[in-house]
Amino acid sequence: MKQSLLDFTLKELTNIVKPSFRAKQIYGWIYHQYADNYEDMKNIPKNLKDELSKKFLINPMKIVNKEISNDGTIKYLFELQDGKTIETVWLKMKDTQYDKNGEIIQEAKYTICVSTQVGCKVGCAFCLTAKGGFTRDLTAGEIVGQVVALKKDNNHKHNRMINIVYMGMGEPLDNLENLAKAIEIFKEDEGLCISGKRQTVSTSGLSNKIDRLGEMDLGVHIAISLHAVDDELRSELIPMNKAHNINSIIEAVKRFPIDTRKRVMFEYLVIKGKNDDLGSAKKLVKLLHGIKAKVNLIYFNPYPGTNYDRPSKEDMIAFQEYLVKHGLLCTIRDSKGIDISAACGQLKEKNV
Ligand code: SAH
Ligand code: SF4
Repeated sequence: MKQSLLDFTLKELTNIVKPSFRAKQIYGWIYHQYADNYEDMKNIPKNLKDELSKKFLINPMKIVNKEISNDGTIKYLFELQDGKTIETVWLKMKDTQYDKNGEIIQEAKYTICVSTQVGCKVGCAFCLTAKGGFTRDLTAGEIVGQVVALKKDNNHKHNRMINIVYMGMGEPLDNLENLAKAIEIFKEDEGLCISGKRQTVSTSGLSNKIDRLGEMDLGVHIAISLHAVDDELRSELIPMNKAHNINSIIEAVKRFPIDTRKRVMFEYLVIKGKNDDLGSAKKLVKLLHGIKAKVNLIYFNPYPGTNYDRPSKEDMIAFQEYLVKHGLLCTIRDSKGIDISAACGQLKEKNV
């Protein structure tokens, strides 16, 4: 596989491309103009472009399919250099706001749900990605390439704000080195300039890696896929809970450097008859005591062949009300793009 220009921080590119102002110009072409071929880079000398093109691709990601939902969600299927495929989702979080005269007060807000691996090793019992097993880690350039390609495809200017959630296919902390590199590249001032605050790493709870991510001090948010309040059920749902139990995760979260104005998100996948009772809600309140937490309840989304069921709306609301009454912030995730199965973690592999 050829390396890509998206694999590099500006500093690294400066070591490859001399003089350094040329590296900056190339960064501008890639991240501000979304150039995906060398010909477009008008002010770069031809011999430099020839030399670079022998060694590096620009964006290694090829869009091979696109499904558009009624609510503005778009699910992309990418083909990688080795023919493997992954999915990325463009989510509309807020519509454009207009005043009485039809002038824009606030532009629409978008979030990109990014994949970090082809498949996943964690093997959660409820997750479709897990069904295909694990193939390989994505490179930093393949993680960055998803965002560049989606911004380009949606004519989203480089300086328009975007949020990134690492909630697509794969376990981000199982690919920590490439993830950290991608986070740094997104943060580059001369690039997309997406601060750590706008990037959320969702993890199934590799507690030692939560510590390592914290030590890297990248300024990112974390979301913990908790899903259960006792280790027995959690180990049924997430087999590696045996090695990283609930207590070890909670302790790692307490050590994680968090922006004092922000909260740690705990994702709680609600499965009918498994964890949707108020006894579980009560335990959850106790477990999160002392943590600046926010709970996001997610309806389990059934798919053919699964043994689990979607909870009732009443139970979901009762669960939420219990948490709120006991002082926890709690939202119920609306399933965006449900008609195209594009909700995060719901990335189907029907095209693969
Ligand atoms: N591996 C990471 C990030 C990707 S999964 C993690 O597990 O956190 C992102 C989210 O999708 C997780 O919170 C996961 O619980 C959720 N998810 C997976 N399968 C789902 C399903 N069938 N219905 C609803 N949410 C699901
Ligand atoms: Fe992997 Fe996350 Fe799916 Fe679990 S829920 S198998 S960690 S992608």
